[in-house]
Amino acid sequence: MTRIFSGVKPTGHLTLGNYLGAVRQWVAADQAPEDALFCVVDLHALTIEHDPARVRRLSREAATLLLAAGLSPEKCTLFVQSHVDEHTRLAYLLECTATDGELRRMIQYKEKAAAAQAAGAGVRLSLLTYPVLMAADILAYDTDEVPVGEDQRQHVELTRDLAVRFNQRYGPTFAVPKVTLPAVAARVMDLQDPTSKMGKSGDAGAGVVFMLDEPGVVRKKVMRAVTDSGDGGVVYDRAARPGVANLLDVLGACTGADPVVLAEGYGGYGALKRDVADAVVELLRPVRERHAELAADPGAVEKVLRAGAERARGLARPVVDRAYRAIGLLER
Ligand code: ATP
Ligand code: MG
Repeated sequence: MTRIFSGVKPTGHLTLGNYLGAVRQWVAADQAPEDALFCVVDLHALTIEHDPARVRRLSREAATLLLAAGLSPEKCTLFVQSHVDEHTRLAYLLECTATDGELRRMIQYKEKAAAAQAAGAGVRLSLLTYPVLMAADILAYDTDEVPVGEDQRQHVELTRDLAVRFNQRYGPTFAVPKVTLPAVAARVMDLQDPTSKMGKSGDAGAGVVFMLDEPGVVRKKVMRAVTDSGDGGVVYDRAARPGVANLLDVLGACTGADPVVLAEGYGGYGALKRDVADAVVELLRPVRERHAELAADPGAVEKVLRAGAERARGLARPVVDRAYRAIGLLER
């Protein structure tokens, strides 16, 4: 049995990057409920400026969208992070394992702290400690594999370091998880700024395709994607031609073809963009349609989440209790 765990933050509407980088891998995992756990990590959404009503709305939307994308309660455990107290219980022990220095080195902390400061907001302490809570999310389930996009690799590496350190100091307690990345589109870039990752939070604009965008909106965003100057035709070169490489990656992820080979079939950017737009629209169409059906019955989604939290609690409790004993705390 391989246990997998992953999550998505309700900081915005889910994007094409979330789908290609993460969600699609989760759906493909096709496992038994106790082997695959997927989580709407709502506590992580509180690390930046947030509106309570919006977080609640986005949490519901994310869960609905994950079901629409093909996760099913028969094949996985889908739940909301804040419904399972074991995550925060374990996070404290891991804060006693991590160091201030290693958290300040996290790239996302540096980026998001800079963005908060630029917006004139304070940098929340939880923004610094967020990767420790994420480590707790993962380690609480004896997770073997964490399917994520490339941007989360550093946090999963930190999780491994903390697990190994804890095990060395206090005796074997945690499974040491490994990261799994998709072969193509592990880092989908913003269509308007192909040197930045497509992300759902912040001022996500015309360069971000959302999973629930109408076909016409998807087309417009793709057709207006920034391409690169140069007369070399369509070539796959991530460093010199990041805009075109990104479009080829997205097309490759949608069609299963190799982006380098795809490039050879195009004489100009226009035809490439039209094919990318068609492929993305068709990829997302069934998910959008299923989302509309599921959103009409929010009670059913809530029921899935309640049952998921129950099952997750049952799995996490013995692991977290084991860690409490190992670190030197008295039995309750
Ligand atoms: P935020 O800006 O709030 O961090 P996000 O779009 O990065 O939002 P997350 O909830 O942080 O979304 O990430 C959910 C999953 O989606 C993670 O596994 C992450 O690696 C993956 N992911 C996020 N953005 C991309 C992207 N542009 N390309 C590929 N994978 C991505
Ligand atoms: Mg992110």
